[in-house]
Amino acid sequence: MVKETGFYDALGVKPSATPDELKKAYRKLALKYHPDKNPTEGEKFKEISQAYEVLSDPKKREVYDRGGEKAIKEGGTGGGCGGGGFASPMDIFDLFFGGGSRMHRERKGKNTVHQITVTLEDLYNGATRKVNVQKNAICERCEGRGSRKGAAQMCMSCHGTGMQVRVHQLLPGMVQQVSTMCHSCQGQGHRVSHKDRCKACGGRKILRQKKVLEVHIDKGMRDGQKIVFHGEGDQEPGLESGDIIIVLDQREHPLFTRKGEDLIMSMQLQLVEALCGFKKPVQTLDNRTLLITSHSGELIKPGDTKCVLNEGMPLHRRPFEKGRLIINFSVVFPQANFLPEHKLKQLENYFPEKMDAEQLDRMDDDLYIYADLEDCDFENRKRHHHQYYYMDEDDYASTGGVQCQTS
Ligand SMILES: [Zn+2]
Ligand SMILES: [Zn+2]
Repeated sequence: MVKETGFYDALGVKPSATPDELKKAYRKLALKYHPDKNPTEGEKFKEISQAYEVLSDPKKREVYDRGGEKAIKEGGTGGGCGGGGFASPMDIFDLFFGGGSRMHRERKGKNTVHQITVTLEDLYNGATRKVNVQKNAICERCEGRGSRKGAAQMCMSCHGTGMQVRVHQLLPGMVQQVSTMCHSCQGQGHRVSHKDRCKACGGRKILRQKKVLEVHIDKGMRDGQKIVFHGEGDQEPGLESGDIIIVLDQREHPLFTRKGEDLIMSMQLQLVEALCGFKKPVQTLDNRTLLITSHSGELIKPGDTKCVLNEGMPLHRRPFEKGRLIINFSVVFPQANFLPEHKLKQLENYFPEKMDAEQLDRMDDDLYIYADLEDCDFENRKRHHHQYYYMDEDDYASTGGVQCQTS
């Protein structure tokens, strides 16, 4: 049990969330509430970042689970300098999306992160996407000077320093020096007369530029994978250009769930198929039809798991190698009274003998009480049903028991 769920709620996950689920939740929300896209949601962006900062660190997560937000704020985790100890939301964001540290940012223009939605088919087959981006680009007309060459003149107010120093006399003999940014030149140290300003950028040195990026999605790429366009991000005079980072966001597939290189699907069998064998078609992500065929004499029990080799996801950069297609089976029983009683008797003859049948016949009727089976109430039935059929991916992985058959 965790003490409070505030941080989990901020990310919209359960306290039992795995690190992967946390990452995914943070990625979605951070991109949605990033100040670039949502300037009015600064608080929300901060909240998400702090929640992720704590929950993504196993030690801090443990402290939080035990003592709540208070325990985190009181420290003991050694994070940051004083007051709360949270990193800036932007740093968390940059770290997550691979934009580097704050120091890095000072030498470099801003990175821009875009998320694109892809299907599992795209990740299986590979795809190309065109993405419209906007970035700050250095004005080509003035080469980032903002004016005609040589038109900039030293600011006379600050003598080119960009700062103005004012001296206040507080008391006779006691003065205070205050430095402020020079208002005449906006701290630039030089001024350009109106007529010399670059017509293209209006003296701002940079222009907003639209561009179409062609994004190549390779076979085997994953949900959350980043594709980096180095130097395609914002430009600023005197700085290295930032990067454009494209993040893949995979939409859920109706049939397949991906786990690493494996694809997982459920298959429902009729009782007769489970007992007597079956051939069932499955449409692959590249539109082939697999005929899933049982071995003769084999029977499938509810909850059985089988796999087909080489029908999972292709490996990134080794697309000819593929993972497994893992099939979780469930079995549907026929309706009540599907056979008249006399035929059921015949059917019974084909099954292994009922256990204890003989013994019971030899016993005296008075020695036991007939107990009828009734339907339980709905709540109980539902719970029972759940326990019986529901098998979590993790459950099955932890048993380690995957039987394989070659296709
Ligand atoms: Zn000045
Ligand atoms: Zn210009």
